[in-house]
This record gives sequence, structure tokens and C-alpha cells, in this order.
Amino acid sequence: MSYNLSAVDGEAFYDTDKHEYNLQENTMKLILLGAPGAGKGTVAKLLTAIDGSVQISTGDILRGAVQAGTELGKEAEGYMKRGDLVPDSLIMGIMEKRLQEPDCAKGFLLDGFPRTIPQAEALTELLAKLDITLDKAVDIDVPKDIILDRLCTRRTCENSDCQSIYNVKSNPPKQEGICDKCGSKVVQREDETEEAISHRLATYNEKTAPLIGFYEKEGLLLSVKAVSSDAVIDAVKKELSL
Ligand code: AMP
Repeated sequence: MSYNLSAVDGEAFYDTDKHEYNLQENTMKLILLGAPGAGKGTVAKLLTAIDGSVQISTGDILRGAVQAGTELGKEAEGYMKRGDLVPDSLIMGIMEKRLQEPDCAKGFLLDGFPRTIPQAEALTELLAKLDITLDKAVDIDVPKDIILDRLCTRRTCENSDCQSIYNVKSNPPKQEGICDKCGSKVVQREDETEEAISHRLATYNEKTAPLIGFYEKEGLLLSVKAVSSDAVIDAVKKELSL
């Protein structure tokens, strides 16, 4: 296993039981909050490139499961197509396993999780059990008209191992409909029709927006008013002294 030690604030220590460097105390552990289309995925990719931490997107995991036709995928598919949230119990099952995978020792960015107060409460318990301390919950605050425009023009690579994001207006693939990175088809997600988008945004306002108050009370909130991903990256780097 290799780590980008230079980008990590503080000393790594060698865990003699596990025979590996343990960076838990020194790595970035963030939650990315924000409406669908706020740019959580883009920000996560930029931040993980800085310090070698991992992006954990429950949406990507679920889309991968739907494409692979697993039990989880079959259970989740209907909710996702309608733009509804998948039940908390399914999501917590995914996250409990994922957060214990070895790559999380490099730090992690939670993208699209938690999405409800019960998920946030369950996450607090899970992190306490795993002896992990969060650095911040970053709320990416983007005006609603920009979000709507972005979601309607967003396109995604259909390969579940890639899932690169494009935008027909601002960032189209070099060859129309083909992913620059892996050559698979670039498509409009089924939950990015106008109807599903307005449903997802209503669900966000009802179920997910209250997390901003939740993390504010915990003293973990970093709110960034942002129309560009760079502004968010700068704010996080400043806050965490990266
Ligand atoms: P995303 O790509 O994060 O917008 O997620 C796409 C869809 O996956 C959402 O509209 C939900 O149906 C489902 N999903 C992703 N993350 C969660 C979560 N934390 N809780 C419940 N449903 C989720």
C-alpha cells in the first residue's frame, strides 16, 4: 500500500500489528453536503487528488449495484428512478462495510451521505465505534437556478467503474456521447429527467437540508457559498490548512 505522505499534515505512525502505516489521525475526513447538482462529486475528485484520500459516493455505489443486478441494486432501483431516497437501513449497511475497508485509512470524503437525520445519527454512532473523528461537514451552497440548469445538462459515463461527469454546455466529452476516460457511452441519468430532478430537489429540501443545522450544532459545519468548484477547494484547504 502506498500513501502520499507529503500531503498529509503531521506524522504517520507504523502499526506493528497490521504491518502498515496508519494515517487515521492525520488524514482528511469530510462530509460533503449540498443539493443534487451542487458539485459534490467534482469537489470530491479535486480534493482526493490533493491528498490521496478516497471519495465514497453512495450514489455511485448504488448505480454500480443496479448495473451489476445485485440484490442491493434490485432493492434500490425503483427508489432511485423516482428520485426517492433509498431506505436508511440499506444505506447504513453499505456504509458500515465501506468505512472499514483499508483504503479509508488514507482519509475519506463522503459524497451524498448522510442524506437524512437518522443517517447522520447512525453515522455518529458508527464513527464512534470505529474510533474515527470527522474534520468537517462542508455545505456547498449553490443558487437553485444554477443547480437546475446543471442537472438538466449533466451527462454521466454509464460504466459503473468510471461514472465520469460531463456537461453538454460547459464540459462536453471530446467525442459526442463517448467518455474521454474509458470510451463507454455517456448518457443522461434516468433520475435526471425534469420530473425526477424536481422530485429530488424537493426531497433534498425536506430530508437533507436539515443536516446543515445538525452539523452546525455539532460544531462541524463549514458553509461555502460557491458557484465554482475552485472556491470550495480553496475554502476547504484554508480551513484544514492543506
Ligand atoms: P446521487 O448520485 O448522490 O444524487 O444519488 C442518486 C440516488 O441514489 C439518490 O437520488 C437516491 O435515490 C440514492 N441515494 C444515494 N445516496 C443516498 C443516501 N445517502 N440515502 C438514500 N438514498 C441515497
